[in-house]
Amino acid sequence: MEEKYLGLWVKIKYMLQQTIGEKTFNEYFEPINKIAKVENNTIFMLTPNNFIKNRIDKLFLNKINEYSSRESNISLRFKFITNDEIVKVETERINTEIINNMETIRNGNLNQTYTFENFVTGRNNRLASTIAIQVADQPGVFANPLYIFGDVGLGKTHLMQSIGNYIIDNNHTKTVLYVKTENFVEDYVNLLRSKQIEKFNEKYKDIDVLLVDDIQFLSKKNQSQQEFFKLFEKLHAQNKQIVITSDRPTTELKDIMTRLTSRFSWGLVADINAPDLEHRIEILKKKLTTHSIQGDDIPLEVLELIAKNFTSSVRELEGALNRVIFYKTMLNEDLTVDNTLEALKPLLKNKELNKNLNKTSDVDKLFDIVCGYYNISRTDVISNSRKRSIVYPRQVIMYLMRKIYEIPFKKIGSFFNGKDHSTVINSCEKITFGIKNEDNIKKDIENLESKIK
Ligand code: ADP
Ligand code: MG
Repeated sequence: MEEKYLGLWVKIKYMLQQTIGEKTFNEYFEPINKIAKVENNTIFMLTPNNFIKNRIDKLFLNKINEYSSRESNISLRFKFITNDEIVKVETERINTEIINNMETIRNGNLNQTYTFENFVTGRNNRLASTIAIQVADQPGVFANPLYIFGDVGLGKTHLMQSIGNYIIDNNHTKTVLYVKTENFVEDYVNLLRSKQIEKFNEKYKDIDVLLVDDIQFLSKKNQSQQEFFKLFEKLHAQNKQIVITSDRPTTELKDIMTRLTSRFSWGLVADINAPDLEHRIEILKKKLTTHSIQGDDIPLEVLELIAKNFTSSVRELEGALNRVIFYKTMLNEDLTVDNTLEALKPLLKNKELNKNLNKTSDVDKLFDIVCGYYNISRTDVISNSRKRSIVYPRQVIMYLMRKIYEIPFKKIGSFFNGKDHSTVINSCEKITFGIKNEDNIKKDIENLESKIK
């Protein structure tokens, strides 16, 4: 089928060649040889860039479609489209598809993909996820309420719903309900207004596990706070499990009565922080398995590139991965650092690009600067010497490798005679502690950072 359309395009191209100047033809039409898609009798031709597309649309589109209707018996139309447009349209389509799929909500108002199996743990969320698993195992017993807080996009909703999904799978007699705080408030206000408040009470009457997401939205909603307080007291007294998430610690909840917020720390409070580089890479690998993509289909350096540039929110990290996967499918090409950068360009617009792939030259430069600063040799610093004059600069180098280049701990170890992962972590932590507590360490690091950057 495609051949037929291409045949038509070749004919039209030939006609154009006869009627327009050679230079214009070569510039505009010569490079257009590929059909992007055919939809509703419209043939979309892949066009190298926006400039050419706009020129063709303005100057030649009518003529082309006139030729086309002359040459084809069904009326086929041509349109010109650039790669960027295709990516944009398709990414939007995929995103809505993902959102629609997510709406396949199970019993309890839970998204079924939010499970412990799909949740990657690391140093930033280990405590929270360990407690969550115990709560799921023994609802109402282990920590009640469980209060999880952290910045947006770091997995609070995912972790909270994992508790619900686990309980539904393993404990069939328990009733689970997940509610967003906004919906709780909205429900309450609507039912109160329509004088059907008994429906509200009905909804929450027989719940064994109540998951309340983003409690900070109770702020200033006085009546809803009263109602939530009553519900909390009732469920808690019956040892029903309550899990709450928020974007801040209990003590920083504004405009919510302290009678309520003080109860939030009765059980256990756990925070989730931003994942480090290795953790982000692990999350990307996990997400690939849910896309049924083989790990080695996407080279590690591409995953590293994504992980290095999307650092503060897992949601953004995931969005970037989806875009890259789509790009790969569309181009039907192997991914490289270069085409990944191309794919991510629109998302990176406002960010400072971190293309840095730990080139050896960066590492060398770092060794040179730090060794020079402390007046020691590189051989000494990578040796196993325990002398303080050597150990401290060694820790500083490890710290800076991590901080500036985000090199994985294991790889840092490989620059120091294969020192293990935990030694590197310890060193980095010592310096982090030092910066906070000792002025001379703080000053050293500031001086060195300004030399390196
Ligand atoms: P929050 O509620 O903290 O704003 P979400 O739970 O909505 O964040 O997480 C945002 C996205 O990131 C979700 O798609 C979630 O699956 C994913 N995500 C976050 N943390 C992890 C993790 N540790 N492992 C796997 N996926 C994660
Ligand atoms: Mg959330």
